[in-house]
Amino acid sequence: MASKGKTAVVTGGGRGIGLAYCRRLAADGANVVVVNRSDPAESLAELSGPGENMGLICDVTQPDQVEAVRREVVERFGRCDILVNNAGIFPYTNLDNTTIEVWRNVQATNVESIVLFAMAFVPAMKEAGWGRIVNTGSSIVLTQARDFLAYLTSKGAVHALTRALANELGGTGVTVNALAPSMIATEGVSALGASSAGISGEQLVTFVTSLQTIQRPSVPEDVSNALAFLVSDDADFITGQVLHVDGGLTRTGA
Ligand code: NDP
Repeated sequence: MASKGKTAVVTGGGRGIGLAYCRRLAADGANVVVVNRSDPAESLAELSGPGENMGLICDVTQPDQVEAVRREVVERFGRCDILVNNAGIFPYTNLDNTTIEVWRNVQATNVESIVLFAMAFVPAMKEAGWGRIVNTGSSIVLTQARDFLAYLTSKGAVHALTRALANELGGTGVTVNALAPSMIATEGVSALGASSAGISGEQLVTFVTSLQTIQRPSVPEDVSNALAFLVSDDADFITGQVLHVDGGLTRTGA
């Protein structure tokens, strides 16, 4: 029960990779706060563990809604010990078909939300002298993927933001790392539609899997297993890192 007694806030915890994070944190003993744009009540019911769990509806791009989450968490649990910034959107975008509104929404959801949640929860982590922040990046940053102009840029920013936040928080007891998954067939990926080359999300998963050293499709638990380590005391000397949980997709060398 590595996270027993800790309170974890997981954004985008309603489904997919975020839900796997919530399941693992709950099983490891944490109180889990599932933050999601749509009502996460059903997902909340799936969690099992000794802690108390709570679901909150929040659009992570909206500062007032993030502040409301902070208030609820403080009122119920005192503070957040583990912040998992996972909410993300990944529409196909390229120069021909994107609009500045779509671009901004991707950056606001995937990048700015991390800053908002850090502003909300880091002061109390610093005061406590212990905290874990784990952001969901993506291995896509190191690939030749097309049609992800806004998304690839946003995840590059998530990796850089992870390092910048870690730099700021060095010596405070708060570590900041990112997990960079390969492609996982989540609901979000299934909803992708067709790229400019007519490629569906499912086809993309098959293609990316074939490029991995370990050629089995990745599942959300691959990433939540790594999360469990990064939020534990065993990882207290690891910060500013982007851990690629990608079956060797972005390995270098022969
Ligand atoms: P899904 O689309 O399946 O789930 C995303 C979750 O985030 C949903 O629960 C969604 O809520 C929530 N969400 C989206 N926007 C907001 C918002 N503005 N406010 C609050 N919640 C929001 O995605 P995945 O599980 O596949 O991806 C999770 C993370 O992992 C993302 O950051 C993604 O970029 C990253 N990732 C995914 C990979 C993959 O192949 N699946 C690979 C690498 C990284 P709602 O249900 O209400 O829409």
